[in-house]
Amino acid sequence: MAASKRVASMRLPPLPTVGELIKLYKLRAEKQLSQNFLLDLRLTDKIVRQAGSLKDAHVCEVGPGPGGLTRSILNAGAADLLVVEKDYRFIPGLQLLSEAAPDRLRIVHGDILTYRMDRGFPAKISKPWEDEPPNLHIIGNLPFNVSTPLIIKWLESIANRSGPFAYGRTRLTLTFQKEVMERLTASTGTKQRSRLSIMAQYLCTVHKCFIIPGRAFVPKPEVDVGVVHFTPLVQPQIQQPFKMVEKVVRNVFQFRRKHCHKGLGKLFPEARRDELTQEMMQKADVDPMLRPTQLTIPHIRALTEAYAHLCDHNPGLFSYEFREELRLKHLGKNKHTPVEMLMDS
Ligand code: SAM
Repeated sequence: MAASKRVASMRLPPLPTVGELIKLYKLRAEKQLSQNFLLDLRLTDKIVRQAGSLKDAHVCEVGPGPGGLTRSILNAGAADLLVVEKDYRFIPGLQLLSEAAPDRLRIVHGDILTYRMDRGFPAKISKPWEDEPPNLHIIGNLPFNVSTPLIIKWLESIANRSGPFAYGRTRLTLTFQKEVMERLTASTGTKQRSRLSIMAQYLCTVHKCFIIPGRAFVPKPEVDVGVVHFTPLVQPQIQQPFKMVEKVVRNVFQFRRKHCHKGLGKLFPEARRDELTQEMMQKADVDPMLRPTQLTIPHIRALTEAYAHLCDHNPGLFSYEFREELRLKHLGKNKHTPVEMLMDS
């Protein structure tokens, strides 16, 4: 009862609606920045509920724009909300919100792709990785052209326990184009199974929350939008460096309709491709005739471990890129290039 009273006391006072603010500050959505706003506070409340309890929480909201989701985060009881917004036009409207929520809203005019979140919150909120997640959440409705590179960057940060994950297993609640949500959450054997499914699921519990129809946004985007919740795993399902996993997964999925040995073979220079691919498949005990979409995370783990073992025994192999070999071949430069040089290229 006391807790619900406290959250109620943290609710924002009456304010102009988000729609009124947009008119007041003439915040026309910029098409080239893929800006689509959510004005329905029931919907932004629903997104915020997916994060779990925000009572007394520290939150980073990415891309607050006119502040609909921002209001919902504050109303849910967040004690410290840091918003990072790239477009300066939104800053005055956010300042109005900040005045309505004294000492609870910090505004950064910046780019989330370069913002150093490891410096954004007090160190005392950190929790050891093996503990419960810290009371720190990342929430955002970002443009699709930012949310996909951002989640890839953050997955690497999860693997390295850096950036927002220097505080522990910080949870994320983010929107994506519906098709990207399907890929992030796809299970083995489904059509949507992809590079993104494996990279996300080997590091996190990934939960598909709900779909927001495109018509709920102003202006309406071409596509529907999915809300996804991520909790970093205490123990990643693959214990190899992120870049090693990423390289195996990228290669195997470049021929997604072929047998998996075809893409995996491209990890090796042409001159030793058959031999090393066979060695890798045997060591991993994975059927080379499986399609990439049929591979489970334990399969990828075994393949990455076998590849890491081969890299240990073949100096320069990890930096080999088959596209580079192709490029050199087209330039006619590698007629006599020794394998070791290709591996070092
Ligand atoms: N959160 C608001 C909402 O739900 O109505 C706005 C959503 S709009 C899809 C995306 C917002 O992210 C815009 O305000 C845009 O200016 C901002 N944005 C785009 N790229 C960004 C970046 N790299 N860093 C920070 N903000 C960004």
